[in-house]
Amino acid sequence: MTRKAALLFFAIALVVLLLPAAVVTLAPSPERPPQNNGNNPPEEKRSKKSLQIRLYRDDINEVVLLDLEEYLTGVLLAEIPSSFEMEALKAQAVIARTYALRQMRSLGGEGCGEAPSPADICSKSTHCQAWLDPVKTAAQWGPEGEASLDRIRQALEETSGEVALYQGKLIEAVYHSTCGGKTEASHALWSGGELPYLQSVNCPYCKHSPHYRGELLIPFTQLAKALPQDLALPVASGEQLLLEMASETPGGRVGTLKINGTLVEGKELRQQLELPSTAFAWELAEEGLLLHTRGRGHGVGLCQYGADGAAKEGKNYRQIVMFYYPGVEIAKFLP
Ligand SMILES: [Zn+2]
Ligand SMILES: [Zn+2]
Repeated sequence: MTRKAALLFFAIALVVLLLPAAVVTLAPSPERPPQNNGNNPPEEKRSKKSLQIRLYRDDINEVVLLDLEEYLTGVLLAEIPSSFEMEALKAQAVIARTYALRQMRSLGGEGCGEAPSPADICSKSTHCQAWLDPVKTAAQWGPEGEASLDRIRQALEETSGEVALYQGKLIEAVYHSTCGGKTEASHALWSGGELPYLQSVNCPYCKHSPHYRGELLIPFTQLAKALPQDLALPVASGEQLLLEMASETPGGRVGTLKINGTLVEGKELRQQLELPSTAFAWELAEEGLLLHTRGRGHGVGLCQYGADGAAKEGKNYRQIVMFYYPGVEIAKFLP
């Protein structure tokens, strides 16, 4: 063998020797062992039977038993426009699920006191969470209804079982349509003390809401009807009306208003005059009181239009939930 031939032989031998190693290295490694070792039962056997919720349907005055996720489909259908960004729908899914689970009596919740027989929750938007029969509603809305249902089911599936927790406990997951720039602290409206995750936060995301700003003229006679009797008469004429802000809430809303020297709560006025929110400024007009309103709803917790706006700016549902409820974490619910 010449020196040249020996070198060639050596080179070929080296390639032959290294080739199997290269092949082995390049082969993709399997992500999980191909065989079930018996410790991990198949997925379907592991998944638990889904939770059931007792819903008081005030439209038919009956308590019905529903699968939790199916119940949530009806809540999202009723509570949020399905045309909203998917991440906003997912944030709403987590929040609506948290709200429902916290009420469930089988999990130690208080249930809903509006129902004629024991129920976890009712379908009144002013009391618990609004709810629409998904099948009936989709049929009524036609092809648009089917598309809405698809988006809502996607949001629920992609957040399956997920809830918002504070120090390991389900949060009081309240929400509203539009905060108008600043959300409200829960203790400004409800008793029960301050909650660290229900404080006022600045919301730059709901400017596209039709409720962001509004104007409303309240005729003096209507205003007089909403006020205590001793105030009504001077106010009805509109001439001696004197309004003063007595206390402002942490969210910059009307806490208490002084009307001709008498204190009236902002939330009371909102209810009596059917105002979109307690965030308003006023001016005296010839025909009545002209209100400049901000937002729609009580303003506490998640701002729905804000969630949509935040999603448009690239925030995901986790970031959205944690923005409106500072200090919470999102986790799978384990009863
Ligand atoms: Zn209720
Ligand atoms: Zn907002």
